[in-house]
Amino acid sequence: MEVVWRNLRFKYVLICIFVTFIVSCLISMSPISNDDRKYDLGTSSRDRSDVKSSINALRIRRKSKHRLAILVPFRDRFEELLKFAPHMRKFLDKQYLDYHIFILNQVDKFRFNRASLINVGFLEVKNDYDYVAMHDVDLLPTNDELSYSFPDKGPFHVSSPELHPRYHYPTFVGGILLVKREHFMKVDGMSNKYWGWGLEDDEFYVRLKEAGLNITRPQNISTGTHNSFKHIHDRNHRKRDMTKCYNQREVTRKRDRQTGLHNVSYKLEDTIEMKISDTSVTVLNIALICDKSITPWCECNKMDTSKDAKAKEKKKDQK
Ligand code: UDP
Ligand code: MN
Repeated sequence: MEVVWRNLRFKYVLICIFVTFIVSCLISMSPISNDDRKYDLGTSSRDRSDVKSSINALRIRRKSKHRLAILVPFRDRFEELLKFAPHMRKFLDKQYLDYHIFILNQVDKFRFNRASLINVGFLEVKNDYDYVAMHDVDLLPTNDELSYSFPDKGPFHVSSPELHPRYHYPTFVGGILLVKREHFMKVDGMSNKYWGWGLEDDEFYVRLKEAGLNITRPQNISTGTHNSFKHIHDRNHRKRDMTKCYNQREVTRKRDRQTGLHNVSYKLEDTIEMKISDTSVTVLNIALICDKSITPWCECNKMDTSKDAKAKEKKKDQK
């Protein structure tokens, strides 16, 4: 009896092993692997690698010590923004940075004021971020050697004159500049006197120098002025506002000791969270306020009293 029982038990164990073997063979031969299931749900292989790199980036972000706010002065450059946002996500995710993009959208009727927008952006983010990138919307870095890491020692000029497609003078600090919070505050941010195109970055250079800050730039980069950045600016469609009225020309050639971060005047009308092809951005709708007793050139109209306008009028009269 004992022998029969043992035999039966042995057979039972053998059958179990056999069934388990067959079932695992069937599972491994099945055409629906994990990845294929994802594909069935409509995820392409390119999307999958994007998802993977985003997850990786998120993981590293949690560990990174410093938070970067990308501050993008902006008005009416929608087609450029559509390219900028996804490009920057792909570019910066490779550097495993903890960053967020802020679009500083000027919604008032005054002339464009890049520097004041950056001041406003800084004030709005400074409690949550350790450093800012003052970043043109139309300048896309294309060489992965260009680092956006924390500029502890001093401002880091990513789009250096040796690499920028258009501006090559040695004191140029426009385009893309990384500045840590303490340094931006030390120089009282940027001047608020620059309405229209140009010179606000040159004035900022003087602020940095006067504060004794050492500006550094990318070194040993394998690319040059033609292939480090894409400047996606259509200059026929997006004309630069170079008009000068009242005494704008004289005033904006000098270092401004009156205005800066401490007295930028604005109203934050809206904060809008949006996604541009999988890239999260925050749009700040900013209405700048112009004190016409200090900067009447925030609006240049036909009735202005500048030398330029008077000269033009004279010419017309002579014709
Ligand atoms: N900008 C804008 N709308 C304007 C003018 C300027 O959004 O009407 C922003 C935009 O981020 C742009 C930056 O200011 O990249 C610098 O202006 P622009 O490209 O005209 O100057 P550039 O560096 O090409 O001389
Ligand atoms: Mn441009």
